Amino acid sequence: YYRRSSSSDSSDSVISSETGNTYYRVVLIGEHSVGKSTLASIFAGVQDSLDSDCDMLGENTYERTLMVDEESATLILIDMWENKDQDNWIRDHCMQIGDAYLIVYSITDRASFEKASELRIQLRRARQTEDIPIILVGNKSDLVRCREVSVSEGRACAVVFDCKFIETSAAVQHNVKELFEGIVRQVRLRRDSKEK
Ligand code: GDP
Ligand code: MG
Repeated sequence: YYRRSSSSDSSDSVISSETGNTYYRVVLIGEHSVGKSTLASIFAGVQDSLDSDCDMLGENTYERTLMVDEESATLILIDMWENKDQDNWIRDHCMQIGDAYLIVYSITDRASFEKASELRIQLRRARQTEDIPIILVGNKSDLVRCREVSVSEGRACAVVFDCKFIETSAAVQHNVKELFEGIVRQVRLRRDSKEK
């Protein structure tokens, strides 16, 4: 269902999957330091709260099967946005390969919230004809005293951008499980409406 490309294979997808299977490529995007890798490490089970095994598929790519609503789904989580070279090719690639996206900002950093909107627009442009599931993620909700973006602003932004919204704390693992379950549900909703 998926394969890893060798490092020399630069023109193709890192992972390709047939359509219609239960492997979903979920890509983390967002400003530096908002908590993408911390969310990914929870998914990877470094601090185990999700009850299944996780495989590392390669650098910054994690695979895990979750039971959501009594049906299993395998997520391939890609945390490549922040790469060493800030390579534009990798960012363009990220915009193309996701079946779903988590656009992350920090509730303590207004600039990261503004960046999230920018990324939403870029994503829409890159994937014009597709209805891609997206969750806008306001992370670091534990840092209440440093909050710069209110819950209602986050929610309103998600309405404008036609995506789901959740606030999480990767630090205290609040709503992280719900986030990954939520993205599975979003992908399924679209899959089910296509089948009809
Ligand atoms: P990335 O650049 O988006 O991958 O961000 P990181 O995952 O590397 O996180 C950046 C910093 O924010 C690290 O010091 C994390 O420990 C911290 N961090 C990430 N998530 C949270 C959170 O939910 N709450 C708090 N208080 N700190 C967080
Ligand atoms: Mg990171």
